[in-house]
Amino acid sequence: MSNFDLIKSRDEEYVVHSYGRFPVALTEGKNALCRDADGREYVDFTSGIGVNSLGFCDQGWIAAVTAQLSKLQHVSNLYYTEPCGLLAEQLCLRTGMKKVFFANGGAEANEGAIKAARKYSFDRYGAGRSKIVTLKNSFHGRTVTTLSATGQDVFHNYFFPFTEGFEFCGAGDFDTLEKLCREGVCAVMIELIQGEGGVLPVDPGFVKKVSELCRKKDILLVIDEVQTGMGRTGSLFCFEQYGITPDIVTAAKGIGGGLPLAAVLFGEKTEGVFGPGDHATTFGANPVACAGGLEVIKRLDGDFLKEVKAKGEYIAEKVKKMPHVTGTAGMGLMIGIALEEGVKAVQVVSAGIEEGVLLLTAKDKVRLLPPLTVTYAEIDRGLEALEKALEKC
Ligand SMILES: *Cc1c(COP(=O)(O)O)cnc(C)c1O
Repeated sequence: MSNFDLIKSRDEEYVVHSYGRFPVALTEGKNALCRDADGREYVDFTSGIGVNSLGFCDQGWIAAVTAQLSKLQHVSNLYYTEPCGLLAEQLCLRTGMKKVFFANGGAEANEGAIKAARKYSFDRYGAGRSKIVTLKNSFHGRTVTTLSATGQDVFHNYFFPFTEGFEFCGAGDFDTLEKLCREGVCAVMIELIQGEGGVLPVDPGFVKKVSELCRKKDILLVIDEVQTGMGRTGSLFCFEQYGITPDIVTAAKGIGGGLPLAAVLFGEKTEGVFGPGDHATTFGANPVACAGGLEVIKRLDGDFLKEVKAKGEYIAEKVKKMPHVTGTAGMGLMIGIALEEGVKAVQVVSAGIEEGVLLLTAKDKVRLLPPLTVTYAEIDRGLEALEKALEKC
């Protein structure tokens, strides 16, 4: 029995089969290279779905995390710790947002944003102004309420009753959005690039108009940057490139560099919405996770972010010339690859594993989310494997 077979058989027996796993068991890694249980090497173009911002086992990140780990691992939110405030300060100074609530994952951050939006409206206008407009084909998480917020029918099954109060509008369809916003709406919540939905950037003209409408009607603009945030698109947050000022921004995936961490960022209007007792989570602002997050944000300076852009363009240019590829979409190191009809994205991912590159899918596209620290040598090696995988399909 190979090491892989052993790991897999145990998993098959004892772990809930809620994921369709690929036949790989990873054991160690360095930046964008990793190794499986039987010693095969892969270039990682997934970064744990946009989580390992600084790649596997970055020295600075390990030093920051282990330094905190050997002081305190957790204290609860009944007391102060330094990493929490330091990371919140960085997030606010770098974005112009005013306050931060720390959570543990994307769905949870979005839950916090939804609660805050409803409370903001309740405080000002009383009950009944609680609807939230989201986009068709969006993805906001897997809790009952964030599933309800997700604008895809496939997610609205089995788990009835879903949370009331969400209305959906096509990305780019401003007329419908305006109609939906006539009454009873407290917030519009959108991704700027629909990630799980197929790496689809939302039209900047539409986003601008939504932002103006929201401002005019005191409807909160909530931007879900769980996937696009923390340098992924070549700016600290993607909203900067859209030239808008959101009222609430959520971040997760890459924010902790590999530890479970998420954040809800509040702007001028919303910074005071939550008072003591209004919202909480036991693990929120865990000092080890925040120490990791602090190292991540420190590294994402202007030069680093320019490199993210340059590397993204370099990859897209090369990928466009590959077999079966009809185009690319995305920003920075969030890249979707459109394929000719008949070529399935999941087939490409499986062939990629055989060739030594780890890839993601997003709907009918192949999706790349390499660590932001991926080197050009790693990129070239990964792209060579991707090209061979495409040739096989
Ligand atoms: C991944 C993702 C989520 C959910 O995050 P979890 O950490 O899995 O709960 C929410 N919104 C967007 C845009 C995402 O990409």
